[in-house]
Amino acid sequence: MTEGALLHLARRFPLLILQKFNQADEKSSGGDWEWFVGSRRHGWIAFRIQAKRMDGLRYRQLDHGGQLPGERQYDTLLRDSAAASVPTFPFHVFFNGWSSGWPRGFAWNACPNGTTFPRCAHHDMSDMGCSLLPATTVRDLHRSSGRKRLRVATYLPTSVPWSWLFGPPPKRTSSGPGPTGWPAGIGGLSQLLAWHETMAATLAEPPPSGVNQGGSTRDHSPAEVLLRRWAELLGQGAVIPEGRPAERLPAYADWTLKHNLRERLLRDRLDGLATDAWDFHESDDDALRDQDQQTFGTPSTLSGLIFTPWPDA
Ligand SMILES: [Zn+2]
Repeated sequence: MTEGALLHLARRFPLLILQKFNQADEKSSGGDWEWFVGSRRHGWIAFRIQAKRMDGLRYRQLDHGGQLPGERQYDTLLRDSAAASVPTFPFHVFFNGWSSGWPRGFAWNACPNGTTFPRCAHHDMSDMGCSLLPATTVRDLHRSSGRKRLRVATYLPTSVPWSWLFGPPPKRTSSGPGPTGWPAGIGGLSQLLAWHETMAATLAEPPPSGVNQGGSTRDHSPAEVLLRRWAELLGQGAVIPEGRPAERLPAYADWTLKHNLRERLLRDRLDGLATDAWDFHESDDDALRDQDQQTFGTPSTLSGLIFTPWPDA
């Protein structure tokens, strides 16, 4: 499922670079894939993602053990992400599906205005087919939910569509900002970093009481709180993140990116594309040719890497 989703993305957005690895063992990094966002000019941030699929309204794989004794997979993911040289945000992506309609009694957490499905104009139901939660939230919910720790109902009412990795949703049906007045989209890479700091802090809080009841019994959904907080931050002027993008990719990612860019250059002769989007220099080519003889182990034993260029404003 992961492979299918990533291939679909890479085909739909040809600027993305996807590198698959033939490694089934995901234990040492805790992640299924790593997603680097940035450029040589802007620097880099990363998402490391552990995917879990729904199985009869349960995420049974959440009980899987991690790399070290006593660890769950999410512990490994959190520990290894914190040690990364690039600011790395650990997430779970849940693959969901239902035979008919949105499941009854599950709160809809994909609307900044608190509108419930199906009236919400920000997302289709299918946008929650790949739902997103910070791995810290998943850990806390899993640890505190006892017999409900594998239930989809424990996680989905706090989850958002995975497109929120790249910022809050634009309104689907009309142009311009929605009624809450937040500006759609994200500016610089630093702003994306701040967005993730805000998302991690907000979605890590315990959900408001009654969040699992759905509909009008709730006060504010986690998504509403997140978007309101984000709008306040933007309203204060420049958003200053706690962290900063890393200047360099780790060696395995740097090599993977350059290798892919060179292949693209050779294959498509799209010099303009590669130099604009990735700041790829011809001089790298020689160095790369030498490096090409080397084999880089992927220390994290991920099954894939994906790169998203951050455009110049
Ligand atoms: Zn909505």
